[in-house]
Amino acid sequence: MNFHVITIFPESFGSYINESIIGRAIKKKLISVKFYNPRDFVKAKNRNNYRPADGRPYGGGPGMVLRPEPILKAVEKALAGKANKKQKPLVVNFIPGAKKFVTAEAKKIARKYKEVVLISGRYEGIDARVDKILKTKKYSIGDYVLTGGELPAMVFIDCVSRQIPGVLGKHESLEEERVSSSEVYTRPEVLKWKGRNYKVPKVLLSGNHAKIEKWKKIKPARFANQ
Ligand code: SAM
Repeated sequence: MNFHVITIFPESFGSYINESIIGRAIKKKLISVKFYNPRDFVKAKNRNNYRPADGRPYGGGPGMVLRPEPILKAVEKALAGKANKKQKPLVVNFIPGAKKFVTAEAKKIARKYKEVVLISGRYEGIDARVDKILKTKKYSIGDYVLTGGELPAMVFIDCVSRQIPGVLGKHESLEEERVSSSEVYTRPEVLKWKGRNYKVPKVLLSGNHAKIEKWKKIKPARFANQ
């Protein structure tokens, strides 16, 4: 899968996507992540190379809005020669309050798409005509408002990539499918911290696998049907 991220802050992604499982998936060419800065599609306004991709909102309001043309041009560049009738790309716009992005969605997307464009909004968001023209799919990653769509794009890339065959190692895939627990423990068996002892639950030390699995089901980490 090829992820194309439209963002005015491409540098904010590097330290996350180049590490661990996602970094490995990029190296193995199972996924690619490319960036397109809307500012690169704006003519410089002065000698300091000032390229504003935003404008004041019609109807008034405190914040700025990302202008449509630089975003449309960036998406056009991202998909040049890649979109065809058989393999339609997915174009995502992140909006707080939109449909919640969940693992079930990630599974569907991983099965269906090869080219995925992620538009990371900033300020008050992007001009709504972009949604109309590109028929974007709108997702929220949770019931809170962030400063920008970069974290949502990273969440999306991480969650969808995990569903692509080969991205998770054999061991990690098994972990993904089996019943897990929100409570996990490792050494030491008794943690001594500021005069108190914190013990690992006895059942986990019992060696009784049936009992352990039962305990884990009471403390599930996964969401039903996701
Ligand atoms: N006034 C805007 C609104 O209520 O929709 C807030 C825009 S927010 C400050 C700036 C950008 O952050 C949005 O365009 C969106 O891309 C992203 N964003 C913020 N919170 C988000 C969330 N929970 N899920 C997805 N995207 C989010």
